[in-house]
Amino acid sequence: MSQLARFTPNMGRRYANRRNHDEGKAGGNVSRLSPWLHAGVVSEAEVLQSALGQHSPEAAEKFIAEVFWRIYFKGYLEQRPSIWRAFCDQRDAALSCFESDPVTHGLFEQATSGQTGIQAFDNWARELGETGYLHNHARMWFASIWIFTLKLDWTLGADFFLRHLIDGDAASNTLSWRWIAGLHTKGKTYLARPDNIAQYTQSHPDGPLLARGLAQDAPPLTEPEKHARRPLALPPGANTIPQTYALLLHDEAASHVPFDLPHPPALVISAARPDDRSPRQIGGLVRDFAMQSVQHGGEAAAETFGCPHVGWQSGNSLANILADTKLNHIVTSYLPMGWTRDALWPELAPLADKGSLIQLTSALERATWPHAKAGFFGVKKIMYKAMREAGVAARQLELFEA
Ligand SMILES: Cc1cc2nc3c(=O)[nH]c(=O)nc-3n(C[C@H](O)[C@H](O)[C@H](O)COP(=O)(O)OP(=O)(O)OC[C@H]3O[C@@H](n4cnc5c(N)ncnc54)[C@H](O)[C@@H]3O)c2cc1C
Repeated sequence: MSQLARFTPNMGRRYANRRNHDEGKAGGNVSRLSPWLHAGVVSEAEVLQSALGQHSPEAAEKFIAEVFWRIYFKGYLEQRPSIWRAFCDQRDAALSCFESDPVTHGLFEQATSGQTGIQAFDNWARELGETGYLHNHARMWFASIWIFTLKLDWTLGADFFLRHLIDGDAASNTLSWRWIAGLHTKGKTYLARPDNIAQYTQSHPDGPLLARGLAQDAPPLTEPEKHARRPLALPPGANTIPQTYALLLHDEAASHVPFDLPHPPALVISAARPDDRSPRQIGGLVRDFAMQSVQHGGEAAAETFGCPHVGWQSGNSLANILADTKLNHIVTSYLPMGWTRDALWPELAPLADKGSLIQLTSALERATWPHAKAGFFGVKKIMYKAMREAGVAARQLELFEA
């Protein structure tokens, strides 16, 4: 993938030194690989392998750790599924309050259309709509201002991000917003400060960005529900794939390339469900990216395996598609907590109950998720071990340790 090849030389010390700077739309100091990682077009393993192909583990440590944040968040949400449910419930309740609370609704409209009068915040709101992307630091400042200065419900902000970020990811997004709000690391919040914003937006085309009138403190939010951890129940691996099966590609696994399939499928089914990200309308860039990734992924897989490709549209029945083909088994990548699972699961559940649904997890997820029980530190400690276990850049790591 050309974006990966282009950015690999920068994954070392340059990334560590420059990654916190928000350089706006054209910024080349961060990889901007998140849309493709989210869509499963490129895998975490491929990105890490690439980093260590050109940099020592020491030089690339910061970049490697960021990729592990993504794996960590997914594993954490998987073990605390009630967080996703609580987010959806609180968002729906907050949206239905709009009717009876025109003041909050007005503030929400100002915030999402970039008309609050806080220059930096308004700039990011517009940039998000125009590009489908925001720099990590901008996401942190934006979420902090949303929660602590504008005092809007955090779930509405998280929903706004999911509707407009091409990389919108149930785990990374929900848990990052919770982290800013003091709900992830209990009591620890993130306060956006004007001097910090000015310092790290100096290279922004409109920078340094001004942020007047921000809240001076960030008291942690609280919630009634305790999100208990459930044990991980990871499905068995690719060795359980039957001789004849259909391969299902979707928004979070749009390409067959990262799959390690022992033999080819008889059919490729592709299902894009971007509109299920939110009850509200999602951004055009988000929809186009998801629809195209899944469509191209389906066509490419069918060509590679020399088999037919069929689209499973929203509203169509999977059972009918399968009945036409006489196939009984579906193989797909593990469906983590989030809207893709919510959208597809009602039709997949009967297959899962019969043992006819085979979900594949990556070796990196299997090595990392058991450590994503509490804070990120537990994962940071084992990230190189997890890579060795998963066979990712094992030779480079060995050479470095020798
Ligand atoms: C409030 C908030 C909401 C966010 N929502 C999302 C989201 O919906 N989807 C999403 O993928 N990321 C989200 N992030 C994390 C992070 O901002 C993006 O992953 C990152 O900015 C993507 O840009 P990049 O590809 O250039 O990252 P790079 O800096 O180049 O990092 C490489 C890869 O590592 C991963 N990564 C980097 N930083 C983080 C991080 N802090 N947390 C998790 N993974 C990370 C991403 O997959 C990224 O593509 C959110 C962060 C915040 C603070």
